[in-house]
This record gives sequence, structure tokens and C-alpha cells, in this order.
Amino acid sequence: MLPNFAQLSRPRRLSDLAGQPVAQAMLGPQLEARQVGPVLLMAGPRGTGKTTSARIVSTALNCEVSPGLEPCGGCRSCQAMARLAPSTETYLELDAGTSGTIDQIRQLVAEASMPVAPGQTRVIVLDECHLLSQAAASALLKTLEEPPPRVVFVLATTDPHKLLPTIRSRCLEIPFTEVPAAAVEARLAELAAEHSLELSGEQVQAIAVAAGGDLRRAMKLLQTSGTPDAFQSGTFLLDTAGGSRELLAARLVLAVAEGDLPKAAAEGRLLFGGQGSRRLSLQQAFSLLGEQLYRLNLLLAGVPAAELQVSAPEAQALAEASQLLTPGRGLAWAEALTSSWSALADAPLADEPALGLVLLRMLRANDQPAAPAPSASPGLPTTPPAPAGPIATPTDAAGWAQAITGLEPGLAALLGKAQLVSLANGLAVLRASSITRQRLQPRLMEAATALGLAIELAA
Ligand SMILES: [Zn+2]
Repeated sequence: MLPNFAQLSRPRRLSDLAGQPVAQAMLGPQLEARQVGPVLLMAGPRGTGKTTSARIVSTALNCEVSPGLEPCGGCRSCQAMARLAPSTETYLELDAGTSGTIDQIRQLVAEASMPVAPGQTRVIVLDECHLLSQAAASALLKTLEEPPPRVVFVLATTDPHKLLPTIRSRCLEIPFTEVPAAAVEARLAELAAEHSLELSGEQVQAIAVAAGGDLRRAMKLLQTSGTPDAFQSGTFLLDTAGGSRELLAARLVLAVAEGDLPKAAAEGRLLFGGQGSRRLSLQQAFSLLGEQLYRLNLLLAGVPAAELQVSAPEAQALAEASQLLTPGRGLAWAEALTSSWSALADAPLADEPALGLVLLRMLRANDQPAAPAPSASPGLPTTPPAPAGPIATPTDAAGWAQAITGLEPGLAALLGKAQLVSLANGLAVLRASSITRQRLQPRLMEAATALGLAIELAA
């Protein structure tokens, strides 16, 4: 097992913070002047250094030798913070998601107003602060309006827009952004050198891609990718790639769109990759592939890639694939996948050949219903007959109501409970109660395939 890099290499000074020039520029002068706050809002994606920055602020303000931008790192206070065991006089950290009840917030407010020892500053961190209940947030508000002297509040969140406006307006907002891939790679290369790991450029890149701008995740991937020996062997890339199976599924879709079966098969092997409990089941692989095919169909229906809510590399692979396909072909693929699942689920086939057969079927699927297959493909499962006559793709609300009656009765009933919000450009947007949503979600692709539309559940 490799060391816990995320903990070991946590930056102690502002200048060591990776890939956050704006945060550095905003905090630097405050630390230098030893005048911070009193209420900071650190907002940005996970793993980008928000809590780390709060600890840097506390270290900088409470160093007993050289408080300011360059804390000494050796005094009692600096050492305690480095061990993540700071005195609660100077540093308190609370996760609003797990301990943000109104009682806990009241207690925090009480602790905040206890006198602070001379020369010290108390930094109080409220992580995931958007998860506070309205009542808990209100209990905090008064203290934020008039913070006790020498107390700095740091609110950290991935979703600043979910904060009460009255709270947000009290804060100096410091934006954190995804750490650029180059900065992640540089940090990984440094760590590899420090720990004598022989990492190739390709391996470093693979981790950075899988981590998608989350430095903490990148270090976690490095740590969990096995023993130092694993870096020398092929298992490394497999295990690392396992960190982002969604991306592998998207790349697999792209390889099929390119008509490159060997590449698709290789991505498929990676998708299953991993040993023991980390290995995917055929059902999980189908499910991942199905999700990506659904997103591909959304793209083909004109939904912008930015609305897919996937990582940037996934969106790019799917967007490239969509350039190579017609909407009809995208739907035919989804159909090939869903009909294959019922045919293969009980078939006595190992996972890889089963997936390989599905990829072949996708490659052969066309816009038109398949012509009677020439007898040239022995061994390939045949497409089961469509369950009913073809349903005309609806273009308006009346057509929609008509079309869904032609579906399997259970599915028709579920769709009947949902409200059609809009129907345009091959995309139907539905709104439904949470119970209907839960039951409808797993059957969306089936409905989309049968109706010849992309279907989206509005939030
Ligand atoms: Zn110090």
C-alpha cells in the first residue's frame, strides 16, 4: 500500500496551493497584513483546496514565530496544524452535512464567542455549508453579521447558489476552480519523484484524466493503484482507469462510432478490468453503456453537451461519437443494447464475449430496420422480433398521448402519470412526482427507443 499522499502532501503555505491563482491573489494580501475575513466563502468543485486553504489561513495567523504569508512550520502551533491536531482554541472544523443540526450550530456559535487568547485567531470552518437547514442557517446568521473579535469564519461549499442570500451577502467569496490537468500532472510527477515511483508520462496523464480536475482524487487514485510494483506492470492502467468507468464506457461508444471493433473490444476489456470485488458484472457494464448511449441520443437530439452533467472528457468522447452518427442510428444502438440484454442475460457466455457480441450488433445496426440478415453471420444472436407494430414518433402533445398508448401497458401507465412539459426537435421533456420518477427512470431508454425520441425528466 502506498502512503496517503493527500494527507502527506497537504500544502501548508498559500504559495504551495496548486492551480488556484485567484484564491492565492485574494488571500495573499490578507495573510500578509494578518487581517483576514471575517467571513470567507470558499466556493468550488470538490478536491480543489477549499478546506486546505482554511487550514493554511489558520496556520498563517497562529504561527508563534513568523505569522503571515510564510509561517515557520516548526513552532507548536504550526506542528499541531500539520498533524491535523490543532488546538480547538484556534481551529474548529464542522461538516454541515453530518453535524449541522440546529443544536450543533448553536453550540458552535457559543464556542465562537469564547474569548480568544492574545495573539491568536480562531478559524471556524463549516464544510458543505449549503447543507445547513434553514433554521440552522438562521441561527448562524446573527453571528456572521457581528462576528466576535479575532474570529474568522470559513464557509466551504460546492454549491454556493444554495446558500441563503442573507448569508451569502455577508461573505467575501473566494472562487475555486477545477485544478488544470497540467497542474495535477505536475503534482503527481513531484510525488512520484519523492517516493521513487517510476511513473511514465502516460500513466500520470491517465490518472489526471480519471481525476478530472480533483487533485485530492488524483492523489487517492495514485495511492490506491496498488504497490509500487504495480506501476511496472499492466495492472496499473487497468486499476487507475477503474476510477472512471463512465469515461471508459464513453470511449467504448466512440470506438464503435468510429467502426473500430478492436479498439472497442480493448475499451470493453478495460471496462470489466480490475480484480475480485472491483470487477464489473455484465449487468453493471450494460448499465454504464446504456447510460452513455442515452446521453449520446440526447446529444443527437440537439441537447448541448454542457447539459449532460458528465466530466469534460466523457462529454468530449460522446460529442465526437455524435458527430459520426445520425439520430436514427443512435436509437438503433440503444435498441440493440436493450434487446441484447434480455437475449444474453441467461446465455451461457463469459462477460467479454457477451459484450463483444453486443458491440457487433451495434456496428451492424442501421437507421432502417435490419434487412433479413444474410446467412453469413453464424453465432450472432438474432434480433428478437419487435414486441408490437411500429409506433409513429409523436411531434406534439396529442401525438404523444396517442403514441404512449401503444407501449407496453406498464410503461404506458407510468408515462401517463408524467406531465409532458415540452416536445421539440426529437426531445420530450417530462415532469413527474418523485415516485413516478423513480419508477420511470430505469425505463426511459426503453420508452425513448420505442417512441423514436430522446426523453428527459425535468428537475
Ligand atoms: Zn510557526
